[in-house]
Amino acid sequence: MKLNLAYYSDPVLRKKSERIEGIDDELRKLVDDMIETMNAVDGIGLAAPQVHRSIRLFIACPPVQKPNGKWEPGRVRVYINPEILESSQEMQTFSEGCLSIPNFYMKVTRPYKIKIKACDLYGTIFEETLSGFPATNFMHEFDHLNGILIVDHYSEEERKSLEQLLRLEGSN
Ligand code: ZN
Repeated sequence: MKLNLAYYSDPVLRKKSERIEGIDDELRKLVDDMIETMNAVDGIGLAAPQVHRSIRLFIACPPVQKPNGKWEPGRVRVYINPEILESSQEMQTFSEGCLSIPNFYMKVTRPYKIKIKACDLYGTIFEETLSGFPATNFMHEFDHLNGILIVDHYSEEERKSLEQLLRLEGSN
């Protein structure tokens, strides 16, 4: 079932999400629905708050480059109660979009490499190291669990002019 997305001014996007205490059928169903919702809009990541659920869960599928140079959608990964254990001093900048702020892209600078820990849908805790775009993809979704949106990576002044722009777009 496709879920309704929460958009920019929705308060659910600003809340710090709750830790997940157990994995049950309801959670598995939610993940299925989130994958369907993400695929329907060609997204590469979706966090639970974006579908009005304030819990620490997101899905991500950063594109992978095939040996022939073509980019293809990656495998969908599920991250429950994710944590960032280490992040590199080296930084990188990507133009990021967000399903909660449609048709809007912003350059965001983040660490190039991170070591993370999370739980999967089977309840297994795992660690992995991500670098390049998958690291940015992870941190973007991770931010959602703490009520942070891409615009928060800009100064207040820059954000104000952006908000004006977003309001204008929302009104037509
Ligand atoms: Zn987003």
